[in-house]
Amino acid sequence: MAKQEDVLKKIIAHAKEYGFVFQSSEIYDGLSAVYDYGPNGVELKKNIRDYWWKSMVQFHENIVGIDAAIFMHPTTWKASGHIDAFNDPLIDNKDSKKRYRADVLVEDYIAKIEAKIKKEVDKARKRFGDAFDEKQFMETNPRVLANLKKIEDIKNRLYPAMENNDMEGIRQLIIDLDIADPVSGTKNWTEVRQFNLMFSTQLGSMSESATEIYLRPETAQGIFVNYLNVQKTNRMKIPFGIAQTGKAFRNEIVARQFIFRMREFEQMEMQFFVRPGTEMKWFEYWKEERLKWHLATGIPAEKFRFHDHDKLAHYANAATDIEFEFPMGFKELEGIHSRTDFDLKSHEQYSGKKLRYHDPEINESYVPYVIETSIGLDRTFLAMLSYAYTEEKLEDGSERVVLKLPPFLAPYKVAIFPLTKKDGLPEKAHEIMDELKYDYMCFYEEKDTIGKRYRRQDAIGTPYCVTVDHQTLEDNTVTIRERDTLKQERVPISQLSSIIGEKLKIKL
Ligand code: ATP
Repeated sequence: MAKQEDVLKKIIAHAKEYGFVFQSSEIYDGLSAVYDYGPNGVELKKNIRDYWWKSMVQFHENIVGIDAAIFMHPTTWKASGHIDAFNDPLIDNKDSKKRYRADVLVEDYIAKIEAKIKKEVDKARKRFGDAFDEKQFMETNPRVLANLKKIEDIKNRLYPAMENNDMEGIRQLIIDLDIADPVSGTKNWTEVRQFNLMFSTQLGSMSESATEIYLRPETAQGIFVNYLNVQKTNRMKIPFGIAQTGKAFRNEIVARQFIFRMREFEQMEMQFFVRPGTEMKWFEYWKEERLKWHLATGIPAEKFRFHDHDKLAHYANAATDIEFEFPMGFKELEGIHSRTDFDLKSHEQYSGKKLRYHDPEINESYVPYVIETSIGLDRTFLAMLSYAYTEEKLEDGSERVVLKLPPFLAPYKVAIFPLTKKDGLPEKAHEIMDELKYDYMCFYEEKDTIGKRYRRQDAIGTPYCVTVDHQTLEDNTVTIRERDTLKQERVPISQLSSIIGEKLKIKL
């Protein structure tokens, strides 16, 4: 555990040192769980957002985008259920004065039991080798069975208690499981209380006429209230989707783990409107599509897993998370939900406006069902950094830190170095840059030795470095060096663009 936390600490320090992520308002000691993106961070973030947008809107002829406002009519949040139900149960430890999400304390406890089961399975796999049958082992090993039963019993208490707002029940579960505060080590807990996660503010300049409005806690509702506008103006035929990226705000109780859980963050959401009765087919379709999207970054499949929800939100009839193995373990990166017709029906009721679709194929009008894919941009950014951050020992005995980012997501695609600051080399390097910059983010640097310049580019994940030397002036060739293999090749300047372009292709 300590080792994994060290990895996260290293990533945070690296992100700061190389201009990816800064604590917000750091000169005033920062604001908890709010972060700013620096020059390299903003490029990586934009590239992830563009990748998502392309894969949704550009690659699907039946998906279009919108950009709805952050402020929405307050009734939106009544209809969506956020005013009444967007709560987290919180509990304080009286000794450490630390606040926790009560359900997360219990879920962490379950994760520990799951880790025990995994250890048992790994041990047996080693012992039995090829003859190992995991399914049979899980069904027969007494220790595994006892632990599985324990998990089931805990879930059978936690989920109904959450469902029924039974705060005392959740507290009793924490007491019965003997869960101690990880900070103080004591079990001196307060009551469990519900806490609404929406930020509110006043609309209007005069306090008497002010209306309380909310900062949106998800981007999805901006899509639902625009469903009819988009369907009509773009003449969309079901099934079709509306995609949106944008800021969302949640007053998270426990905001830790860097940009994993923030109070202001960005979501990338797509709502796919389908004929009722076909939603399970589309749910499965989007599960596969979204996993493909993650795998196309080149991150290996074992870093991802699906986690189907046992406890469904009030609006859903199926839900799964795509979890990623962060340094803190497997955690939710993306949610895929079958939201039924809950949102559109509820907006119909509250607004008095019909939000229906006339389906010419079956000659019927209905409120469409919705499959949602919802992913955090900042969380994906952290996933990328966690995967890419690599400390390497090189053949010559030296060490380097390299960000092995998927090349199409890297902040800069190519760095251009004149070997020296004289003899016309900087001018030649700028000439090359002027040609490439229309297609690629280019970085120019002439300070320090080439070796040091390579290291700095490795640290921000630049896939290619190009060195301009005296031979370049004679025959228009340069040395191109590849980030991961460290291979260097002499190539004509005229080939640079196609070499870089080849590396950046997205193959979904
Ligand atoms: P969690 O269980 O981690 O709180 P959630 O289930 O509430 O997440 P959703 O409401 O499904 O999350 O939001 C969709 C996605 O938005 C999440 O998968 C995550 O990537 C991202 N997200 C949600 N809350 C935050 C946050 N506080 N900071 C950063 N990203 C977030």
